[in-house]
Amino acid sequence: MAEIIKGKGVIAGIAMGKIMLAGQNLDGYLMAYQPEDLEVEKKKAADALDKVAEILQNSIEKLQADGGAEQAAIMEAHRMMVQDPMLGESIASKVEELKNAPRAVLDAAEDQAKQFEAMDNEYFAARAVDLRDVGKRIAKYILGVKEPEVGDGAVILCGEEIEPSVIAGLPGDKIAGVILGAGSTTAHAVIIAKARAIPTVVGVGKAIEKIADGDAIILDGEKGDIVIRPSDEDRAGYAERIKKQAELKKYYEELAKLPTVTQDGVKVQLMANIGSPDDVDNANKYGAEGVGLFRSEFVFMGKQDIPTEEDQFKAYKEAVEKCNGNLCVIRTMDIGGDKPLPYLEIPPEENPFLGFRAVRISLKRHELFMPQLKAILRAGVFGKAAIMVPMVINVSEILAVKKLIEEAKVELAHEGKAYSDNVQVGIMVETPAAAVMTPVLGKYVDFFSIGTNDLVQYTLAVDRGNASISYLYNHFNPAVLRLIRLTIKSARENNIWAGMCGEMASDPYAAVILMAMGINELSMSAPSIPRVKEKLRAITSKRAEEILEVVMALEDGDDVKAQLTKLI
Ligand code: PEP
Ligand code: MG
Repeated sequence: MAEIIKGKGVIAGIAMGKIMLAGQNLDGYLMAYQPEDLEVEKKKAADALDKVAEILQNSIEKLQADGGAEQAAIMEAHRMMVQDPMLGESIASKVEELKNAPRAVLDAAEDQAKQFEAMDNEYFAARAVDLRDVGKRIAKYILGVKEPEVGDGAVILCGEEIEPSVIAGLPGDKIAGVILGAGSTTAHAVIIAKARAIPTVVGVGKAIEKIADGDAIILDGEKGDIVIRPSDEDRAGYAERIKKQAELKKYYEELAKLPTVTQDGVKVQLMANIGSPDDVDNANKYGAEGVGLFRSEFVFMGKQDIPTEEDQFKAYKEAVEKCNGNLCVIRTMDIGGDKPLPYLEIPPEENPFLGFRAVRISLKRHELFMPQLKAILRAGVFGKAAIMVPMVINVSEILAVKKLIEEAKVELAHEGKAYSDNVQVGIMVETPAAAVMTPVLGKYVDFFSIGTNDLVQYTLAVDRGNASISYLYNHFNPAVLRLIRLTIKSARENNIWAGMCGEMASDPYAAVILMAMGINELSMSAPSIPRVKEKLRAITSKRAEEILEVVMALEDGDDVKAQLTKLI
């Protein structure tokens, strides 16, 4: 009898395959290990560090050559961890203490991982996984344990936490699915799976123990269902869905080629949200007309130090070029809040979401901000770039940023570096203050992009990451809708364009009323584009305006949602 367990579906798609347990337990190997003299153990640990760094370097080069830039970047972060002198010293002193090289390595990595975890932050918790991964890798090398290898068929990787190196180290077509016992959606393992569109379920919890190596599994990456040892009947049921999945994929590929225009000719530009230049390739496949949000802070993350102007220029230039003449909106670093950066050494805060973040950091730390502005202005030469400022609440902030942009141009001219004079400057409207002040802010910028992820949390005073109050987090709340409508109206009155890059933009029902409000652009994660396009192509702007008036008269966000699903 098949058994179904449930987790959280994070990457949609149905996968069928055999389980390969990842995240091997080394207890048996450690018990069998016979330590030698202290000097020999010391040498083994030191040699292992060198050798593992070399092995990682080889896989980085291989991944780069195969176009796996994202995986390569993660492996690079691991290589830097292996070569971090702090880890090396900690291992050396543990060897003195334990007189056992592999145990010393695991202990030292564990100590550092615990320090990360103590920071009580999802981003750092995910880095703790990386550190344990690195420790295990080095220990495995000393113990002579082989990394998992797959045979002919594709497998479903399953583990409480899967080391990112295991996923990155296997060819994409060999992994049909991923199951994680732990719940982190920002774990590096999940990021890699997303880049490869591998159906993934996380947060399975204790039930993961029911899954054994070699078990046949069907996994639904949307619903989060995991069918263990499915019957023929189960298989037949899912086979139909796999067929539909393939048909839908084909249909979406066709849709990608068609324009986003309503039945009566109103056009909306659908663009992509990206975190790295590589993501533009995927965005183009889904028919994105450029990039509406490049979250540049990802260029700063996973590094040991601030990326230079040159490093940033390379990343922005690549993204701009890949947009093929369409606009590429680069948001200046949105550091802070849920995205801290250890090397900036910003002291912990009581309320990081209301604290020293985003443009507030940029305006205080010119040594960080100027190279970024210069890099974007230089990238503008290779296509159409825009600068977008996050977390604005005051006119003075935008004026200060514009002054720095002019200074950056002067510096570039002095340095003899080419830059574009046609880079648009816009702001994210993601605070209620900015939304209310859009009639004024519109005088100073080229565009607004509504960041609903934050606008909803700040307007409703509902933490965007707090599951226990997520029932209150609703982008259809009338307070939010009124701010959005005002923002779009202000843009029209100031003759500038208005877009949206928060998650709301990927909701097809929201897209219809946003179009009716007069929005020019919607930016979202690329796989959401076809569903939004489909809804907009099926309706007239006249009908959408009628629906808009109906829902704007409602007094409760849940009613708005219910009405929209009924009327559209
Ligand atoms: C937003 O707040 O809507 C947004 C797009 O930015 P982020 O999710 O990066 O805060
Ligand atoms: Mg935001």
